[in-house]
Amino acid sequence: MHELGIVFHIIEKLEKIAKENNVKEITKVNLEIGEVSLVIPDYFLDVWKWAIKKSTYMKNCVCNIIRIEAISYCEECGQTFKTTKFAKICPKCLTNKTYLVTGDEVNIKDIEVLEWRKDQRFFRWSFVYLLVKLNSIIVFINSL
Ligand SMILES: [Zn+2]
Repeated sequence: MHELGIVFHIIEKLEKIAKENNVKEITKVNLEIGEVSLVIPDYFLDVWKWAIKKSTYMKNCVCNIIRIEAISYCEECGQTFKTTKFAKICPKCLTNKTYLVTGDEVNIKDIEVLEWRKDQRFFRWSFVYLLVKLNSIIVFINSL
């Protein structure tokens, strides 16, 4: 059930961004989810569809999930390897002195928004589609 908490956390964060930036609507979110994070994409999307109905700026927001491959690094020999294939054991030198480099993240990569913007020529308000890069925002890490 922790998908519910993550969904609410993401929506809360994005609603705040929308409010602060004169956004009319957030139409799409690209979300990076690591393959060894505890988030199950199908279940996440079910919760998402239900939760956005209660939002202000995200009622029709599409959530696109980008899966991030899990990669581990060996401290003994410097080898990187697929975590899902070898778990914690380095395939080259067989130690377990390894750690996960990528694969447990849940990041908002970017969002598409419909923004209020004044059209200078006609003095009217129009909508502009923007792609907002949010790569640096780390929403959630597995340990939460
Ligand atoms: Zn190794």
